[in-house]
Amino acid sequence: MKIICIGRNYAAHIAELQNEKPDEPVIFTKPDTALLKNNEPFYYPEYTQDIHYEVELVLRIGKEGKYIEEQFATKYIDAIGLGIDFTARDLQAKAKAKGLPWALAKGFNGSAPVSEFIPISEFADLKDIHFSLQMNGETKQKGDTSLMLYDFAYVIAYISKFMTLKTGDYIFTGTPEGVGPVKIGDRLLGFIEEREMFDFEIK
Ligand code: MG
Repeated sequence: MKIICIGRNYAAHIAELQNEKPDEPVIFTKPDTALLKNNEPFYYPEYTQDIHYEVELVLRIGKEGKYIEEQFATKYIDAIGLGIDFTARDLQAKAKAKGLPWALAKGFNGSAPVSEFIPISEFADLKDIHFSLQMNGETKQKGDTSLMLYDFAYVIAYISKFMTLKTGDYIFTGTPEGVGPVKIGDRLLGFIEEREMFDFEIK
């Protein structure tokens, strides 16, 4: 399986990092070794001093497809979960300055915690899903799919032109504003609507 991520998909987050608004979705990938499941703790690695949380809705792909038409694209989603796109912001800043890839800044071990998944049939409106992140009991990020620059259908159609989507692939759909650093001892709780999706610690 593969993990595909969208960068810069919420305008307020683009503004907080002073990035340019993209003409097309910004795409990057993480290896399967980035996955963390079942509320396993995240162990802070020694090669970075500035890991940020980015809470994101995660699509799980339910069937194989390429050149998927936008009008049928949401039929390729079988479930939606919540994840964190952990980012070593210091490594990413160095890479950005030199125009180099983000592979290590985004793809290190444990950089993609994901929750259990909710079947797509349980969502009444994919363009109106609320999600949020609490750290140590305080709400840090709130997202709403109505605020995405590129919606699920567009993202699936776009990616599938370049990379065949396969059953079990994950797509991280971008983070809203409010990103910030984590430190050892922090506890992260994620919600889709009122439902608790994950609860894990930084160790
Ligand atoms: Mg992200």
